[in-house]
Amino acid sequence: MDTVWVFGDQLNREFAHLRGAEPSTHRILMVRSRAQLGGRRHRQRVHLVLTAMRRFAAGLRREGFEVDEREAPTLIEGLEGHRREYRPEQVIAMEPLSRRGLRLLGARSIRIVRSDQFLCHYEDFAAWAAGRRRLRNEDFYRWQRRRLGYLMDGDEPAGGRWNYDPENRRPPPRAERPWPERHPFLLDATDREVLHSLPEGLWGDPPSGWWPTSREQALERLEEFVGGVLPHFGPYQDAMLTDDWHLAHSLLSPALNLGLLTPAEVCDAVEEAYRRGAVPIESAEGFIRQVIGWREYVWGLYWLWGEAYAASNHFEADLPLPPAFRGEPTEMACVAATIAGLERRGYAHHIQRLMVLGNLALLAGIDPQAMVRWMQRSFVDGAEWVMVPNVIGMALHADGGRMATKPYAASGAYIDRMSDSCGDCRFDPKQRSEPGACPFTTLYWDFLDRHRQALEPNPRMRLQIRNLDRIADRLPGIRADAERVRRVLTDGAL
Ligand code: SF4
Repeated sequence: MDTVWVFGDQLNREFAHLRGAEPSTHRILMVRSRAQLGGRRHRQRVHLVLTAMRRFAAGLRREGFEVDEREAPTLIEGLEGHRREYRPEQVIAMEPLSRRGLRLLGARSIRIVRSDQFLCHYEDFAAWAAGRRRLRNEDFYRWQRRRLGYLMDGDEPAGGRWNYDPENRRPPPRAERPWPERHPFLLDATDREVLHSLPEGLWGDPPSGWWPTSREQALERLEEFVGGVLPHFGPYQDAMLTDDWHLAHSLLSPALNLGLLTPAEVCDAVEEAYRRGAVPIESAEGFIRQVIGWREYVWGLYWLWGEAYAASNHFEADLPLPPAFRGEPTEMACVAATIAGLERRGYAHHIQRLMVLGNLALLAGIDPQAMVRWMQRSFVDGAEWVMVPNVIGMALHADGGRMATKPYAASGAYIDRMSDSCGDCRFDPKQRSEPGACPFTTLYWDFLDRHRQALEPNPRMRLQIRNLDRIADRLPGIRADAERVRRVLTDGAL
């Protein structure tokens, strides 16, 4: 009998490793690796993976499969234990989602089948990238649209445009919120059992049912999103509100990243809603771009650029993570709100990640590799392939601009425009230095000043550098204040 080894982030009966599996010829192996589920990870991340694995195993058993669920210090020790006990003729696995995983499998006589978890396999991405001077997400996205046929009317993009991003940058609504309230799933006995079995040392609140742990729940979440939330996704996707953690975001990334949903079925549902007139083009396009564009683009880049890319540190940033990121009190209202949400649910939406946490790390000069490790462990949808390109390339510009054409550096004025945090903050987003100045604003000008030489040749930074020149007489004060901000940020007194 053969064994199919199913990893905790490949939980789909239709993926390549399981599609042809039969209970009469295949046994299933699932390993809970203590090395991968301990440490200072978010409790809800660990609970999500373990509960989803358990429910998936139960579903396979209902089909008649024998499932060997085992816990081991590492994945490989789990495999060896399984081999000793069952002596399978061969072990089959689908390509794992990390380079390290692929290396481990390659050295263990395992038949590795090509992954179909993404719409664009990383080898196909590499073929697309070959010979291109610059790997722009927009070019990749249009290639995916044409190839996959999403939102296409013949050879033309539906609605006449490829990209509706300019319509999708509205600040948060000041009065009534147009998107519906969301509802958590009820926790059951399996959730509680897993919760009681979690290792010591995790951080964050226990789960309250926000993250689907089965395919049925994931499909329910998809239906809820497409049915009522998606029409509002586009316009408000960059907005932040202190008392509304989800706004009109899909909340689907944890389910997608574990395989509980496939990118194709998510995009099919969105396309269908658009075609029947239930969703405006700017929301349908904005969402499909995130899935077939950005998500698959970072997946492809993760494999293409390899380990050296993950170690990039263009600005030689070396500050440790601020205690505020571990939940210590902070007076920065936007950071406090983002971290409180992270602690409560293991989640912050993409603008909080990019323009609050990532922006602060970029401006202050926080060690990019420490930031990747922290984000990977702290978010329910964290994975190496997600975090390396998003943090190294997009948020921290630590790759020197291989991925993004300019650093996503912004002062407190941006956060003030796109959120409601600044009104309740003791700092003033317009102040650059002196007591009461917003740390983002002080650090923003200091960042431009410190890295002026590196940024000046970039045509997309010209305006910022010109603005820096206009405040040349203030720079000595800003430099001194920025030094103090970095110190108190690191000491945990900010
Ligand atoms: Fe954040 Fe600055 Fe606004 Fe305070 S004033 S909430 S620190 S951006």
